[in-house]
Amino acid sequence: MTDYARRLERLRAAVAAAAAPSLLVSGAANVCYLSGFTGSQGALVVDRERALLVSDFRYRFQAAEQAADFEFVEVERWAEGLAATIRALGHAAVGFESAHFTCQAHAKLAAALGDVALVAVDGLVEKMRAVKDAQELALIEQAAAVSCGAVEEVMALIRPGVRERELALAAEDHIRKEAGAELAFPPIIASGPRSAQCHGEPGPRELAVGDLVVIDLGARWQGYGADITRTVAVGKADGRQREVYALCRRAQQEALGALRAGMACAELDGVARAIIEEAGYGAHFGHGLGHGVGLEPHEAPRVSRTSEDSLATGMTVTVEPGIYLAEVGGVRLEDLVAVTEDGRRVLTRALPAAELPEVG
Ligand code: ZN
Ligand code: ZN
Repeated sequence: MTDYARRLERLRAAVAAAAAPSLLVSGAANVCYLSGFTGSQGALVVDRERALLVSDFRYRFQAAEQAADFEFVEVERWAEGLAATIRALGHAAVGFESAHFTCQAHAKLAAALGDVALVAVDGLVEKMRAVKDAQELALIEQAAAVSCGAVEEVMALIRPGVRERELALAAEDHIRKEAGAELAFPPIIASGPRSAQCHGEPGPRELAVGDLVVIDLGARWQGYGADITRTVAVGKADGRQREVYALCRRAQQEALGALRAGMACAELDGVARAIIEEAGYGAHFGHGLGHGVGLEPHEAPRVSRTSEDSLATGMTVTVEPGIYLAEVGGVRLEDLVAVTEDGRRVLTRALPAAELPEVG
């Protein structure tokens, strides 16, 4: 049995549990996860007997190559073709992923479906994807290794006068030179006051002595991504920067130490948040502690105060507290771990330095 056949079997059980007679899967990462198909236009229609990949002429051969476990259905006009495929299954309703459907696409498909009801059934595939198998973990670990190399490359280039954009290009280069690697997302390199922007886009700013620099990047290996963040100071750091770094690192270490299967994600977020709040910086840590990483750079589970997810063995999550101060700059430390039966395994191989590194 192939991985895809196993996933299909689990999906069918989830669809049955959701009381839907069939499911239309249209989220691109979900389609890829279930079938292997990576074309730009494609949807899966699955019921108890059939597993169909609906796409168009452009993907006739690619579909046969990538998605051997699915019957290929070639359509010309998308909504009409998809509707005809669904109607032919003879069910009164079809589940669909409302998170991966525009209002316009929904209206068109609903009109073409006639009396077959479209019922929103969300998160089934995302929930499956949150728990990685051994092969997926190996790919993520490989992506993490490439990402760590890119961070080291950026650190080695940091000096006063170098521009954020140059560092970002060096990181991209490092990743792309690795055969099989791609960017999971565009690198974030933000320096000085800009480092207080959580997702600062690399710009023309030249680094100066005393800047904090946040480096957040991720490579992708055969579809699977990684995510890592390091913060360094250019040349020399001041006392406040060192203090904020030490606090952020302590929050991260405590959270990493507490992390275990079965734990509520909100509780894990709380471990780091309590430490930062106690030190008086709670208002400056305005994002969640982390997120799942896999086929998408941000996926289930969500690790935040309001998350209702729980950790399970096989999940890959980031642990990334951050503290952002307009006058000091920002500090964020992010590592990617796999949840194991007895704790966690760090996939981003070297944990952050104990003290704020002064480089360049
Ligand atoms: Zn990141
Ligand atoms: Zn992240």
